[in-house]
Amino acid sequence: MELGVHWHDIQQTLIAISAQRLLKLKCPVCESECRGECKGHEALKRASVYEIVTGSALKEVIKEARGEEAYYRYPTLRTLINKGVALGFVPETEFRKWIHEENG
Ligand SMILES: [Zn+2]
Repeated sequence: MELGVHWHDIQQTLIAISAQRLLKLKCPVCESECRGECKGHEALKRASVYEIVTGSALKEVIKEARGEEAYYRYPTLRTLINKGVALGFVPETEFRKWIHEENG
């Protein structure tokens, strides 16, 4: 029991857990800090990234929270933001800004 709620009730009612980050995007024209004179200045400069745990991964995460051994795999914010950096859409500063907190 956690916070007065039985694990069975959590397993029966919880359908997903998610986390979101709003990332700055590189300018598609100048690929850096964009200034007013750049043609890409009005372009979309932010995107959201979601980490969603659901289905069998969620069952395993709940098992782990109960202290049981668990095996799961899902796309984490770390891997998704890192992918954005690797593909050249997201500045590396965004990875450092959001991921340091997960290193504890
Ligand atoms: Zn620009």
